[in-house]
Amino acid sequence: MDAIIVTIGDEILMGQILDTNSKFIASKLTDSGFEVVEMMSVKDEALAIKDAVERSMSRADVVIFTGGLGPTRDDKTKQVLADYFGTRLVHSPEAYEWLLEILAKKSLQMNKLNEGQAVQPENCRLLKNDVGTACGMCFERDGKLLFSLPGVPMEMVFLMDNRVMPVIVEHYPFLKLDFTVYKVYGITESDLAIRLESFEDSLPSGIGLAYLPEYGVIKLRLTAHGHAVEFLDEYAHKLELALDGLKIQHGADKSLPIEVAEMMKSSGRTISCAESCTGGNIAHELTLLPGASEWFVGGVVSYATELKSSILGVPSELVGQCGVVSGEVARAMAEGVRRVTGSYYGVATTGVAGPTGGDEVNPVGTVWIAVASPNETIAKCFHFSTNRERNISKATNAALMMVLER
Ligand code: ATP
Repeated sequence: MDAIIVTIGDEILMGQILDTNSKFIASKLTDSGFEVVEMMSVKDEALAIKDAVERSMSRADVVIFTGGLGPTRDDKTKQVLADYFGTRLVHSPEAYEWLLEILAKKSLQMNKLNEGQAVQPENCRLLKNDVGTACGMCFERDGKLLFSLPGVPMEMVFLMDNRVMPVIVEHYPFLKLDFTVYKVYGITESDLAIRLESFEDSLPSGIGLAYLPEYGVIKLRLTAHGHAVEFLDEYAHKLELALDGLKIQHGADKSLPIEVAEMMKSSGRTISCAESCTGGNIAHELTLLPGASEWFVGGVVSYATELKSSILGVPSELVGQCGVVSGEVARAMAEGVRRVTGSYYGVATTGVAGPTGGDEVNPVGTVWIAVASPNETIAKCFHFSTNRERNISKATNAALMMVLER
């Protein structure tokens, strides 16, 4: 089943706002088993909207429009839709009553513009908006569905979750989709693609593999549609075999900090960080999560070599012998931060974030990461790029992956 998303708005085309609505809608539709075959943004003009309606309805089974429904401008969009679906605009008592309720909750009076919002195409299904004054609309023609939603992201999200998806599920009960996600790191996307060539060639129709690289970690999403859903486990097993020897994390599609948080909560363990080249970014990512105080103890941004010794207890002789960017120092930092904070895990980074610095032994992008626990300390060396910001993100992700591996 194909879907098309159309956003109406001059601000999008002028580069003043980013079209986040399409991203949200696309992921909802994809997760429900649709293939989003096209996204388009059009001007807030009757002719452009009419073209988009005709084009999208001729190509897709489900079409979702956002924007063009505000109280000052909704007449254009509604008129175009009424014309296309062969109806007329009429005063809708249902929409009017709903508006009165919504305005009363906000202690507002109905004004002329609001009254206009109660004018709807005669044959549309009203999608009541609990969080704004512009209701959405649902039309059906030749078994195809078209939804028109307000552009304001919060209102669009409410309507997608509470009004649109239930209609879609009711209309297409046979649609099935399932997926599983693997996270792989320490390998480039092209090397991984070469390794998985024969696995990908073996995939039957209805099962697809997507590569989603994210700063040093490659997410592999194995998705099955329709009847192929029953073969997903079998192919997930084959994928695991093909990935054998690579460090993988398997599970739902969650961010790394969330996975770390869940692991800490379920095991009742705690974590702290000693960060040099990541400059506190690991602690930042972890503390963005609500409730982090349950399992995140603290962090030391030990950027200067002296601090690695004075606070974390890294022996200066070790730094002299091995160099500050070394597995030995990373290990000593991870063990040191465990000692200082009393956490169960200690994670440490030391490296050359770039773009300048580095030498022959440790060129720009070299990062040592260590994870210490009461039983053992593991350190690994990574070679990232010359871009400072990306290296910090990549080192952060690699460190979180190493924690998950423990
Ligand atoms: P209203 O006229 O009430 O503002 P509308 O349905 O006509 O609503 P727009 O005017 O196009 O929608 O957008 C309202 C606001 O919502 C915009 O200022 C913008 O910030 C945001 N918005 C609109 N479309 C999008 C989109 N595709 N992605 C992200 N934000 C959007």
